[in-house]
Amino acid sequence: MKPRIVIFLFGFFSHSVFGQDISQWFNEKKVTQIESTLASDSMEGRKAGTRGIEKATEFISSQFKSAGLQTWDKSNSYQQKFAFITIDRQTKEGSMDGLPIKPQNLVVFSAKENLEINDQSGYKSIQFKKGDNFRANAIKWTQSDENLIVWVDSSFAPLLASLEAYSRNQLQKDRNILFVLSNRIPDHFNFRIQQQITVKPLANVIGILPGKTKKNEYVIFSAHYDHLGIGTPNALHDSIFNGANDDASGTTAVIMLANYFAKRNDNARTLIFVAFTAEEMGGYGSAYFSTHFNPDSVIAMFNIEMIGTESKWGSHSAYVTGYDKSDMPKILEKNLQGTEFKFYPDPYAAENLFYRSDNATLAKLGVPAHTISTSKMDDEKFYQTVGDEVQTLNMTNMTEIIRAIALSARSIVSGEDTPTRIEKIGQ
Ligand SMILES: [Zn+2]
Repeated sequence: MKPRIVIFLFGFFSHSVFGQDISQWFNEKKVTQIESTLASDSMEGRKAGTRGIEKATEFISSQFKSAGLQTWDKSNSYQQKFAFITIDRQTKEGSMDGLPIKPQNLVVFSAKENLEINDQSGYKSIQFKKGDNFRANAIKWTQSDENLIVWVDSSFAPLLASLEAYSRNQLQKDRNILFVLSNRIPDHFNFRIQQQITVKPLANVIGILPGKTKKNEYVIFSAHYDHLGIGTPNALHDSIFNGANDDASGTTAVIMLANYFAKRNDNARTLIFVAFTAEEMGGYGSAYFSTHFNPDSVIAMFNIEMIGTESKWGSHSAYVTGYDKSDMPKILEKNLQGTEFKFYPDPYAAENLFYRSDNATLAKLGVPAHTISTSKMDDEKFYQTVGDEVQTLNMTNMTEIIRAIALSARSIVSGEDTPTRIEKIGQ
């Protein structure tokens, strides 16, 4: 056991260094520079799959590089590349035990332009019978990594139709999944699908700061860097969805935190800084990311969404979504005691924010993954409009909120605190 006096001195010392460091690192000028670059017109609204967002990808990569972060896969790129496909035109035909199938009874998740599947193809077979929970399981099967035929009872016909709409936009994956409306598994079948596909390249940007003592325990700081692209101008604003608040503000925070923790260089746990793409399209960036990390190794996730305006409680305050789902929010609060900051439980329960941002995928897998925000969901004039521009943000408060997040995370980064897990969903 260490003598008390040593603990006291060490605690005092590290705290004072922390205080000094933190005011030096979170300065408004630097925050404004990063924010203004991400939200500039030249990024063309950062819509996933467009040229505009590629400039943002490059910018974030260069920031991670100058912070001294490692790349996620030890390559020379911070990008985690994948692709999204849109099905433009599709023909489906085939038969089951000699009877032709109606095209609407076949829903396909495949990136192949031509696909032929029959009872000799060796696909795994799954049957949904009447009364099974199709709604809860269907989305899970669409994310499968193996070839699959799902035989769906005719009582689920309306649900199959909504799955068809969902299949029009999907991640490009090297596997085929067929949902077939049929009350029994036929002895003989063959299906032929032809589809015209548009491929959009996407990339998350990931930087790693290896842990000093707990290398295999990960703490994630994240935000989405994509937004809505170009729309129509209004009387006061041009046609570009700058997304200054949504979510250039969170992305700015991730870059600032990366710089800060890299400079401190005393993190016990491995810190992962990630800017997600395709959040606005349906959370595809975070969904892809989460399948490439073992969720059991992730100790905590700080997802940051819209921190550019003052919260409903005024300056120096923010809220945490899913406040009661793990004890992580309580740990953050504990770390903020004695500071000017306060984090509150999410006051917009009806908005279901916990499951609407990039923390949701990992949260469903059990990770204490929460979103921190200041956005007044009932009163945010420029939310998802072309008016979401830098001039509408409070840069002084935003700088302070980033500092608050760093302070709130300290005992998790240092390995002293480990939040409780969130209950897994849909497993
Ligand atoms: Zn957002």
